[in-house]
This record gives sequence, C-alpha cells and structure tokens, in this order.
Amino acid sequence: MRQPELDAVVIGAGPNGLAAAITLAQAGRSVTVIEAANTIGGGARTAELTLPGFRHDVCSAIQPLGLASPFFRAIPLHEHGLRWIHPPAALAHPLDDGTAVLISQDLRATAEQLGQDSKAYVSLFGPLVENWQALLAEILGPFRLPRRPFLMARFGRLAVRSARGLATARFRGPRARALFAGLGAHSMLPLESAVSAAAGLMLGTLAHAVGWPMAAGGSQQIADALAGLLKSLGGQIETGRTITAFDELPSARAVLFNTSPKQLVQIAGEQLPESYRRRLGRFRYGPGVFKLDWALDGPVPWTAESCRQAATVHLGGPLEEIVESEAAVGRGEHPERPFILFAQQSLFDPSRAPQGKHTAWGYCHVPNGSTVDMSDRIEAQIERFAPGFRNRILARHSRNSVEMEQYNSNYVGGDINAGIQDLRQIWTRPVIRFSPYATPVAGLYLCSSSTPPGGGVHGMCGYHAARAVLRRSLKSG
Ligand SMILES: Cc1cc2nc3c(=O)[nH]c(=O)nc-3n(C[C@H](O)[C@H](O)[C@H](O)COP(=O)(O)OP(=O)(O)OC[C@H]3O[C@@H](n4cnc5c(N)ncnc54)[C@H](O)[C@@H]3O)c2cc1C
Repeated sequence: MRQPELDAVVIGAGPNGLAAAITLAQAGRSVTVIEAANTIGGGARTAELTLPGFRHDVCSAIQPLGLASPFFRAIPLHEHGLRWIHPPAALAHPLDDGTAVLISQDLRATAEQLGQDSKAYVSLFGPLVENWQALLAEILGPFRLPRRPFLMARFGRLAVRSARGLATARFRGPRARALFAGLGAHSMLPLESAVSAAAGLMLGTLAHAVGWPMAAGGSQQIADALAGLLKSLGGQIETGRTITAFDELPSARAVLFNTSPKQLVQIAGEQLPESYRRRLGRFRYGPGVFKLDWALDGPVPWTAESCRQAATVHLGGPLEEIVESEAAVGRGEHPERPFILFAQQSLFDPSRAPQGKHTAWGYCHVPNGSTVDMSDRIEAQIERFAPGFRNRILARHSRNSVEMEQYNSNYVGGDINAGIQDLRQIWTRPVIRFSPYATPVAGLYLCSSSTPPGGGVHGMCGYHAARAVLRRSLKSG
C-alpha cells in the first residue's frame, strides 16, 4: 500500500490552523497548511484597505487573548517578529456627560472612577484577576473536570448569568453598569441571555491581568510570526488554493479543517457518517457584523480627552442602550443606535498611517446574513462622542455580513466567531463528543474557532485539535 505523503495537512492558515500545524511540527510530524487566500492569517491580517500607507486590521485588532493564550505564551513568537504594544489603558467607555470610564491594568485605579460601585468592582474582578492563569487554563479548552473546582465554581456561577443581570445585581451606578454592558456585548448575544456575562468577565479580567494590547505593525504580524515559527520547524504553507473537495488534498495521515462545520460537510461530506453530518447541520451560527475602516486626517476628536489613552473604545452609552442594541440584533433587527466596538491603533503604532494621519476600525453586530449598510448609524454613534469625526475622514472601507463571508468562508453569514457561543454551544462546539476536535472518521479533525474555546486570536482550538491528533496517532501505533 502507498504510504501517505504527509503526516498532516491543515486546511486554512488562520491562527488556529497555524497553531495546530506548529504543535504537530513540534512533535516531529510533517505538515502542510493550504490556504485559500493569497495571504496567510485568516482573522489576523492587515492590509491597505483605504489609501496607500494606511494599514488596517482587516478582522481582529485587539489581542488580550493572544497575549494571554497559554499556547502563544509557550512558543517563541517574539523571535519571529511579534511585538506587543500596550496603550496606557485597555479600554475607554465614553458617556453622554462628556466623561469616559477607563479600564487600566490597575484594578484599584479603575475602580476609583466608579464611585459607589468601586468596592463591588474590586470584589467582582479582584479574585479572578489574582487567579487569571489558572482560570484561563480551565476555560480556554474543551470541557473537562476542573483542576481548580472552587475557582471554576466561582467563575461559573457568575459566568452563567446574563450580562445585564450581573451588571444590575452587582452595580448601582450608571458608569459601572455601562462598562460591564460593553464588555458583555463581546459575547455577541443579547445581554439578557444566559452566559452573556462570561465574555465580560473574561475580557475584564484580562484587561487587568495582562492588558489589551495590539501587535506592532498590525494583526498580520501574529500570523507572520506563527508562519515563521512553523517554517523554522519544517512545516510548509501553500497559499492561493481553495480546497473544495476531499480528493484535492495531498495524502496525509490526518486532515485538520481550520474551517466552519458547513465547509467540513461541503468538502468531506461523503466521508462523514450521515448521523454526524446531520448533527453538524444543526450547528447554529450567530449574528453577523458590519465593519468599517477609516483613513483619517487626524486623531479622533473625542469630547472626553481620556479616550485617547486607549486603543479600544466602546461606543453605546448607558447599559440600557447597549442592552437594546444587542436585543434588536437578537430579534433579527438592525439597531438604530448600534453598540460599536471601535479601535484607534495608529495613536500607539505610527506604522499604521502616514505621519500626522490616522486609522480607525469599528464594527457593530447585525442579524446573520445582513446586507444593510450600517455606515451612517455607526458614524452617528462616533459623532455622538467625538463631534467632528466625519470631517476627518479621508476614505472609508466597509464590509457587510455577506461580504465578510465572501472574504473568509469561516464567517458564515458574517458570524466572526464561526458559531454562536451561547449556553448550549459554548462547550459543545461543533457537537457533543468526548473530543470535539475529532470527527467519527479516523484522521479527520476540526481545528477552527467552531471548536472550544471558540472565537478569538489565541490558537487554543488548533493546539487542542493537534493534541487530539497526536494522542490518537500514538494509540494507533
Ligand atoms: C471584524 C472582526 C473583528 C475581530 N476582532 C477580534 C479581536 O479584536 N480580537 C480577537 O481576539 N478576535 C477578533 N476577531 C475574531 C478572530 O479573528 C477569529 O476568532 C479568529 O481569527 C479565528 O481563527 P481561526 O484560525 O479559527 O479561523 P480564521 O482566522 O477565520 O482562519 C480560517 C482560514 O481558513 C481559510 N480557509 C477557509 N476555508 C478554506 C478552504 N476551503 N480552503 C483553504 N483555506 C480555507 C480562510 O481563508 C482563513 O484564512 C475578529 C473577527 C472579525 C471578522
């Protein structure tokens, strides 16, 4: 019988595909990554989307998960050019009174801005920040019996709640409530639904534990560093080749899909048992995003000067408005006043724009598969907190949810997490199985953010998938 050409082939050079390939190469396995686009990186790419010299993060921009990821921390990405930039504050949340709440790494300084909620803020985040590494080791992977049961019980009790419920139970004042609502909105769930607090707790904890950094030069640098490391370990990468059918792949002992379950079925459907295919067909995708990138003539003219201290700015005002914005998306509507995740990387990284000019990045949530142009509504929200913003725009680039999927087929209907992360699907991605990475077919694996722990640039889905490959190949000889 003919020997397979390779130990493993990975379809897709996103952070998880590259992480999987590195893990396999570190174990001495021969591995090739095949990427559809002409450049590597998936959600970690940087490109001149607007004007020459303006370098925009096409997808991910702010990387607390990247910096905190146990996998990224264990590999020498700095030797391959990755450098983190830390703005003075992780996050700014401006309010209509012309002030802003800032989260900095200093827990107490952050709490002091919250007046009557200062103690409640420290008591909510303090214990999580103290134990952040143990916490992350528990939650950034597949479901298992916790090694730190008391810590996980504490976190779980809070995380299972709705962001609105937790914010209103713990905090009395509008500042702390608004701040937590903005953090919770990263869940891409209505803030009244169970488990929408989890993202807020984790991102808030990381803001204090490690900060919310960005990669110098743009998120592409993360992908390039991963690729540099992979190549130094003997791995290979081929770009500009979309895999559409299983027989297009080189022969390999293991095939890892850095794709959505939808594509796994499209590409390997015939190999998969009917029952598993049906279960993958029931995998649910969440809301989409509408994304804008701007080339600016100058920095954003924030009413609250302190917003200039953070790369990330949450634009949505008070808790009630953010709750309504996310609830509207949950109902399949387009919010009039959407909650905006906004980033201004060039304030801290001059390589992003020509001298004196700036870039900005922002998106809001919209119903899955939306083609509605949200540009006016997004810019109106920015104007609300930074009057004169529109006058600084030199050029803009937009992508609706359908265009997001055309850009990267993992974002089904524009869902940037490649699958909704609600109570039923957060740990059981893509289906309930002892190893969610393995399919019922020997040698076929899923390694994208459609597996635990889900969305974000952290490589942990790829790492765990590769560990599953290695465990199984050891067993089989
Ligand atoms: C607008 C936006 C903002 C975001 N902001 C952040 C942020 O600030 N911080 C953060 O941590 N995360 C953020 N994310 C999420 C993050 O980018 C993703 O969760 C992450 O990139 C998922 O990694 P992945 O490797 O699983 O998949 P991806 O990064 O999506 O990579 C998948 C790769 O597989 C390739 N591929 C797919 N199908 C095929 C095929 N058939 N043949 C060959 N190649 C194929 C794709 O072209 C792609 O390159 C954001 C995402 C978006 C879109």
